[in-house]
Amino acid sequence: MRRGAPLDVLIVGAGFAGLYMLHKARRRGLSALALEAAAGVGGTWYFNRYPGARVDIQSMEYSFGFDEALQQDWRWTERYAAQPELRAYAEHVADRFGLRDGIRLGTRVAGAAWEEARRRWTVRAEGGETWEARFLVMASGPLSSPNTPVFPGLEGFDGPVYHTARWPEEAVDFGGRRVGLIGTGSSGVQAITAIAPQCAELTVFQRTPAWAVPAHNGPLDPAFEARIKADYAGFRARNRQMQGGFGSELPPNPVSALEAGAAEREAKFEERWRTGGFSFLGAFRDILLDERANALAAEFVRGKIRSIVRDPETARRLQPRYAIGCKRLCVDTGYYATYNRPNVGLVDVAESPIERITGKGLVAGGREYAFDALVLATGFDAMTGTLTRLDLRGRGGRAMRDKWAAGPLNYLGLLIEGFPNLFNVAGPGSTSAFTNVMVAIEHHVDWIADCIAFLDRAGKRTIEATEAAEAAWVEHVLAVAKRTVYLTCNSWYLGANIPGKPRVFMPLFGFPAYAAKCAEVAARGYEGCALA
Ligand code: NAP
Repeated sequence: MRRGAPLDVLIVGAGFAGLYMLHKARRRGLSALALEAAAGVGGTWYFNRYPGARVDIQSMEYSFGFDEALQQDWRWTERYAAQPELRAYAEHVADRFGLRDGIRLGTRVAGAAWEEARRRWTVRAEGGETWEARFLVMASGPLSSPNTPVFPGLEGFDGPVYHTARWPEEAVDFGGRRVGLIGTGSSGVQAITAIAPQCAELTVFQRTPAWAVPAHNGPLDPAFEARIKADYAGFRARNRQMQGGFGSELPPNPVSALEAGAAEREAKFEERWRTGGFSFLGAFRDILLDERANALAAEFVRGKIRSIVRDPETARRLQPRYAIGCKRLCVDTGYYATYNRPNVGLVDVAESPIERITGKGLVAGGREYAFDALVLATGFDAMTGTLTRLDLRGRGGRAMRDKWAAGPLNYLGLLIEGFPNLFNVAGPGSTSAFTNVMVAIEHHVDWIADCIAFLDRAGKRTIEATEAAEAAWVEHVLAVAKRTVYLTCNSWYLGANIPGKPRVFMPLFGFPAYAAKCAEVAARGYEGCALA
């Protein structure tokens, strides 16, 4: 069944990107509709409601800056907001800007096809309904397709299995139960810390130890809030000048860790450790750029782990040996200390991998571990998973999963050759994963809206990246990564967490240079694109 008149913009997803895109499109006088699989808005913050789920960028920064009244009125209760508050914020934004009638909840997109003759996208939901639109905006999020590894026997487990990224709406009671948990990335670190005090026994199965620094979360300081709100626009502008689009209150130290004396180094690391959060990686300017500088920061944190975790063998297993920050740094609230609890055990499944799940638990290294409930904190098919899992077909019926078979070709992260009038928000080739994603989203949505306005003014009906621009862009993203430590470990940035996924470094480091490049492309009439 085909729905109504063709739309200007069809948006996939009603998380923060979808909400702002819908608002922006309407403000520009465009007809727009957002399709959302979930029963509510919020995207990531709808689905990831596992115990302990919390943002790792400070709330005052992890929020929209496009509307002064919104940022003045909204009050965060904590320095790092928890998932329920973030979800409430998304609901508030939907109500405040009257977006509800432009969102179809419970509507999972199955696919979309470009119709060359009519120069339109036809978007199909599961269930068969279709919509037509001039422009298709993928606001489906870089971390939205959960990864459930193939564990033989998983179906036969007697108890409940929960994935952190698909946590049930109703409360899960772990009281008196033995819990097994696989995965120690950001989701695992938060869930482990929160579940341990709730359950009888928690066994953590760790393949790679996490680097975690303390959040020092707590109630939001009213004096800080007042100071930021006195010049919120200035605060946002200063943050946009930072490499990650946040953290202007405590910028990176311009000194090299290699040039500082031992005492100065220790003092600076300690100071940043006490401040908490990602600021730790800015203790010296070269922690993410130079492996020797990184090793100094890493050794400092290993020392912290040794001093926090009482059992020496557990402390040894928890100490990572790869570069700190190479996989996304975790920001925690008592993670390492959780292993001092008598009811928490750590099993290293790097040395003895998980062989199979049984009815009563799992077998690793020839030994069976028993538990009543299993939590999978095994992450996502990041950055590309959602687009390649959809039946997305561009010019000539070409499938996105074929186009991206060897890695996600794109231009500026925003445009894809062969897929005219499709914009990808916060995807591969953009700085999304390395920035405060709210900054990335606002930047992308504004760019897309300006691009559509340009096309309409110029009487053009289609835009798409050229193959040459794509090839150069993918090379640029890799060249930037080569100047960092990000290529020295296996991470989801590289697709290395999914067996068989092509190893291509996907996110771009450095927001200000990226934003400047996007602006320059637009100013030059969308250089690198074919317009027709
Ligand atoms: P993740 O970082 O990819 O972590 C997945 C974990 O599961 C890893 O420890 C991984 O081990 C393990 N794993 C995967 N397959 C396995 C297998 N077959 N056997 C054993 N272990 C296996 O995923 P995530 O924790 O969901 O986080 C993903 C991203 O989401 C984060 O990096 C962050 O950007 C975002 N996030 C942010 C927050 C926040 O604090 N705001 C919270 C959650 C998520 P390996 O490392 O060995 O692959």
